[in-house]
Amino acid sequence: MSVNSAATLLINGKWQEGNGNFDVLDPATLDVIGQAADGDRDDAAAALDAACAAFDGWRSAGAERRGDLLRQAAAGIRARAESLASLLTSENGKPLAESRGELLGSARMLEWSAEQGRRADGRVTPASGSGPGLVLKSPVGPALAITPWNFPASMLIRKVGLALAAGVPLIVKPAEQTPLIAAELIGIVNDAGLPPGVLQCVTTSRPAEVAGALLADERLRKVSFTGSTEVGLGLVRGTENHLRRISLELGGHSPAIVFPDADVPAAAAGVAAAKFFNAGQSCIAINRLYVHREVRDEFLELLERKVAALRLGHGSASGTTTGPLIDRAGLAKVERHVEDAVSRGATVMLGGRRWEPADPALAGAFYEPTILTGADDGMRITHEETFGPVLPVYSFDTDEEAIARANRTDYGLAAYVFSGGLARTWNAVERLNFGVIGVNEPGPVRPELPFGGMKNSGQEREGGAEGIEAYLETKAVSIRF
Ligand code: NAP
Repeated sequence: MSVNSAATLLINGKWQEGNGNFDVLDPATLDVIGQAADGDRDDAAAALDAACAAFDGWRSAGAERRGDLLRQAAAGIRARAESLASLLTSENGKPLAESRGELLGSARMLEWSAEQGRRADGRVTPASGSGPGLVLKSPVGPALAITPWNFPASMLIRKVGLALAAGVPLIVKPAEQTPLIAAELIGIVNDAGLPPGVLQCVTTSRPAEVAGALLADERLRKVSFTGSTEVGLGLVRGTENHLRRISLELGGHSPAIVFPDADVPAAAAGVAAAKFFNAGQSCIAINRLYVHREVRDEFLELLERKVAALRLGHGSASGTTTGPLIDRAGLAKVERHVEDAVSRGATVMLGGRRWEPADPALAGAFYEPTILTGADDGMRITHEETFGPVLPVYSFDTDEEAIARANRTDYGLAAYVFSGGLARTWNAVERLNFGVIGVNEPGPVRPELPFGGMKNSGQEREGGAEGIEAYLETKAVSIRF
């Protein structure tokens, strides 16, 4: 398929246009860069019919064959990484280097999923009475994936890889802001040789209508959602008449703790990376930084230098490290958080305002990378996910205080620990209530590790040995000879 066409619905093996289209914008310039098909409830119903029809054949195809197709798809992504990165940047705004990294990570995730499919085995239990018992793993059945715009490739591919490896047909509803990269990636996976109905794409500007039509149908056996906690909780409520498996990868409010025995320059570089990646629009972005009072001044000086070196601009311009926010609503939330923090006594150490570019073509929502010192627990930013390039800094005196404050949140996705001490690090890792923890590591996401959150950050995991479980049912078989 070509991104210039609005045929972004993939239903039963055929790319189709919808009854209408919606515009796709470059968030840096607000130029229209393409159109996507506006799928509706009928498209969703047709996709579910096709997924149900495809299920038996796909589950019987065998894990080896499914793995071969996924590896081929990974090779397809690698071969087209440059043009895909350019599309991802123009739709999402992130710098090209980040887009490339996301696409290569997506290829690795497909390869990991291909391998995990072959390991989705059960077990035999010793005879009790007259025969043994079996624990069998079976694909859960037709599934729906709903994905966000902030990592429009990797969040989508994680679900595609694991579902397909497990023998599950998947309908993808990508984010409205980034349907074109989604359709391209789904096209690459589909072109590896998938039977019709195994992987489908329903782009839409009416997410509630499309998701609602699918959720109302008990043949849909699984939902895997990545996005905000608010929408995720709504999906749980909406599914109450038909119990089905549901994976939720939701919002976060990540703390980072810089202990006094940290390698301070490395910690400053790590914090800058883990905060300002994707302009702070990451579910695992640091939202609270706790720095021990002993190293605070040295650390802040180094951090300020790192952050001051960031360069705002169009993601495809050379030298850009920080793109725009996805839209004006995202910008307004960032501004609210900064205004509230300053009104309650925080100090702007760096940034603290919109970026006004010299180039009038850059009409998007840019905000200067910002450091706020003197933050405290009463500020909105301490409790709400900012999803932008603002880093509030808090001071602490004891390990127990830092860990207790880090845990004081409804979220439980990611946390970061910077320390050179094994016992101190172990204590923190044991006590922090977060699903993903980076130890001196600003990018704690690897295919071989389970990714996901606790509390209001979600349930189930993607990646690791655990990831494929989300697409498998467990059957207990008792045998009498
Ligand atoms: P969002 O508004 O919840 O949207 C996510 C997806 O849900 C989009 O595809 C969206 O479609 C769809 N959606 C919206 N309303 C819906 C409804 N009523 N029924 C069904 N689907 C609906 O979140 P976002 O703004 O795109 O993403 C940012 C959030 O995602 C942040 O909170 C971030 O922390 C979280 N996130 C979490 C992870 C993780 O792994 N835990 C990863 C990335 C992002 P439309 O695009 O058409 O609105």
